[in-house]
Amino acid sequence: MGFNSKAFILSKREIGENNLAVTFFTESHGKIDLLAKGARKSKKRFQGKLETDNIYYIEFSKKSEDQIGSLIKIEISSDKYIEFDGTNLILKAFIFELINNFEINEYPNTKVFKMMEAYINEKYSKETLKLTIKIALKYLKELGILPSIENCYKCKIKLKEISYFDISNGGNTCADCSKNLKKLIKLKKKSIIISEIKNKVAIQKQFLLLLIRFSEFHSGKKFNSAQYLQI
Ligand SMILES: [Zn+2]
Repeated sequence: MGFNSKAFILSKREIGENNLAVTFFTESHGKIDLLAKGARKSKKRFQGKLETDNIYYIEFSKKSEDQIGSLIKIEISSDKYIEFDGTNLILKAFIFELINNFEINEYPNTKVFKMMEAYINEKYSKETLKLTIKIALKYLKELGILPSIENCYKCKIKLKEISYFDISNGGNTCADCSKNLKKLIKLKKKSIIISEIKNKVAIQKQFLLLLIRFSEFHSGKKFNSAQYLQI
């Protein structure tokens, strides 16, 4: 059967000498693996159209549930010109990884698709890091695992800093409640001042790394983007 959908790319891997298996997040089917036949051999067919950070219109076929579908056609839907920007790509790579690691195959989620469509179409600016944090928190909320930031998740007391972060449970923890917690990240002298998450790049990066550790624990998967953020 043939399908048409808007989609963006979550990841790619090489299959044999000629093919690529591309993991798309589609509006119609959610996360789906599709075989791009000849994508490695013939540059013509899919040239320049299998890059992350774009919204595409794709046509694909799928015969049965347990068989990988095939990518037939792919066209860029947005007319924005993407300039190569390393930092931008690292940040976006984290969000793609987040979705890839948590989503279940062929489970449509329009809310996530719309959120990502807006995020991908956004051009890189000073606000991208802040926006990335916002998107990550929004997505974790959608999954039902949003960590507590401004309050201790146990006793609910309001906190100005993140000094103890429980990655296996609810996030920010006060000193008293942090005792006897096993999966605790102690920030010691480098506590994150919560009000600074809004405007300080170094703090934003530190906070994003905390969200990555939290996401790694809850998805049970490693995030490669973490190593690039640790600059
Ligand atoms: Zn507490």
